[in-house]
Amino acid sequence: MQRIVVLAGGIGGARFIRGLKSAAPDAEITVIGNTGDDIHLFGLKVCPDLDTLMYTLGGGIHEEQGWGRADETFVVKEELAAYGVGPEWFGLGDRDFATHIVRTQMIAAGYPLSAVTEALCARWQPGVRILPMTDDRVETHVLIDTADLGDSVAGDAAEGRKAVHFQEYWVRLRASVDAHAVVPVGADAAKPGPGVLEAIAEADVILFPPSNPVVSVGTILAVPGIREAIADAGVPVVGLSPVVGDAPVRGMADKVLAAVGVETTAAAVARHYGSGLLDGWLVDTVDADSVPSVEEAGIRCRAVPLMMTGTEATARMARQALELAEEVRA
Ligand code: GDP
Ligand code: CA
Repeated sequence: MQRIVVLAGGIGGARFIRGLKSAAPDAEITVIGNTGDDIHLFGLKVCPDLDTLMYTLGGGIHEEQGWGRADETFVVKEELAAYGVGPEWFGLGDRDFATHIVRTQMIAAGYPLSAVTEALCARWQPGVRILPMTDDRVETHVLIDTADLGDSVAGDAAEGRKAVHFQEYWVRLRASVDAHAVVPVGADAAKPGPGVLEAIAEADVILFPPSNPVVSVGTILAVPGIREAIADAGVPVVGLSPVVGDAPVRGMADKVLAAVGVETTAAAVARHYGSGLLDGWLVDTVDADSVPSVEEAGIRCRAVPLMMTGTEATARMARQALELAEEVRA
């Protein structure tokens, strides 16, 4: 049986893995999920990327939105707002709240996040093993200039640089100001979660889905030991570009790429990962011109359609990634 390991953020990762399951129904798929986006809200531990993976693969996702639950209501949020209790900028629905309550309760009882995730997945049956990158606390912070905020956000009196939680940057500020640095706080002292290094060592192929290269895949790679394990695994590592036609397909990845000095092009993202890590890279057909420059960097590259418009189109992308992996292996 083929063992596939995927490093994933939220929407881009989850949708790709749905296609991968359809392309490789007999494979054993292990997903290493980003937890740098995690945030505590209303006393609850919220893991946006793990939940997006679980809901998307388990059939509970709000399809159009790409995150949160289908058929959601927001009564609890309204009631909290009536008490003046925020933040209001992070949309937690009633169904979603239950997940965070169960998670927080289990963590308070002493279970590590990996065990909690396994318990939550017992309900959702995602059809893949979802492993948090670490059981330790890692929180991605973004460094911004308070001067850039203008009058848009009240209460930020201090001048100069300021670190905000990734969710505050992404959801509250909608990445409307420049990011000067992205820091996965706590990553340097974090240990890979149970099973993570083992899964990588036993993998036949490792895939980077079209997830955010900085705040999703980059954060996972920042946990000491994970990057090294991938480089040492001795199996093909193939990625798919989240950047198509010099722009992220969805979201504001250009802002965080700029913060780490990487141009928003499919080729620049491949070079950012580098040939020490990446053996193969898929770019969209609109970026076919960039294939030679990626190959010059020592990474085998193909141009294929990379828009995840449905499960069939996404399965085709997954098949092409697996084919490129076999080419690399041979
Ligand atoms: P997040 O944690 O929810 O932001 O999700 P990920 O990090 O897993 O994925 C976000 C990335 O997915 C964004 O940078 C998008 O550009 C990329 N993305 C979303 N949809 C598509 C698609 O259809 N094709 C490609 N190639 N990339 C996509
Ligand atoms: Ca995310």
